Amino acid sequence: MGKLLIVANLKSYKNENEAKNWLENFKKISELNLDPAQKEAIVCPSFTQLFSFFSYFSSNNINASLGAQNVSPFDEGAYTGEVNAKQVKDFAAYVLIGHSERRNNFKETEEMLVQKVDMALRYGLTPIFLVQGKETPIPEGVKIVAYEPVFAIGTGNPDTPESADTVAGVIKTARVDLSVLYGGSVKSTNVKSFTEKSNIDGVLVGGASLDAEEFIKIIQNA
Ligand code: PEP
Repeated sequence: MGKLLIVANLKSYKNENEAKNWLENFKKISELNLDPAQKEAIVCPSFTQLFSFFSYFSSNNINASLGAQNVSPFDEGAYTGEVNAKQVKDFAAYVLIGHSERRNNFKETEEMLVQKVDMALRYGLTPIFLVQGKETPIPEGVKIVAYEPVFAIGTGNPDTPESADTVAGVIKTARVDLSVLYGGSVKSTNVKSFTEKSNIDGVLVGGASLDAEEFIKIIQNA
């Protein structure tokens, strides 16, 4: 098995001050002495905080990567309010695409998600493509998928590790080059039950990652 990816999705919660507190607490990640060949932590803050996270990570030698939670389906241009892949790439290496909260609340279609993946790839961002089940289409060029059943997101009711492993296995059968993460109510006390499964290459964490110390425990226990 390759290295584990442990992703924090901070969603739309923190203002600047709260984000600063999160970063101060996250600094302790250096005490884990992570082996980059074994585990990679990826933090996805709001767009408005990408620059401060980027600066903080570099000036404090924080051993973690950055991702955006979304990206425009369009290239640079007259698209008021959009943040495009060229802009995100200045700060982040990854981008979440296809989260069920975006599919449901913002009516993102499969066609739009393909455009987002294309834009990410054009500018050298790695998409982490979220699927809600084994039938969800996965666009060309995607290498990392996160399986997140809707019933498990933010509910405290995760899928079973066995079921998540089976779904990850089915996804990998169709596309052998994929890494598959599990997401949905992961916390420090259950993370290992997912990451010890042979088809699961990491986790995507929402609610539990809002507390930086809990996120560090998740990374440690994974
Ligand atoms: C998510 O939002 O991607 C997620 C997995 O949330 P939670 O961990 O809170 O279920």
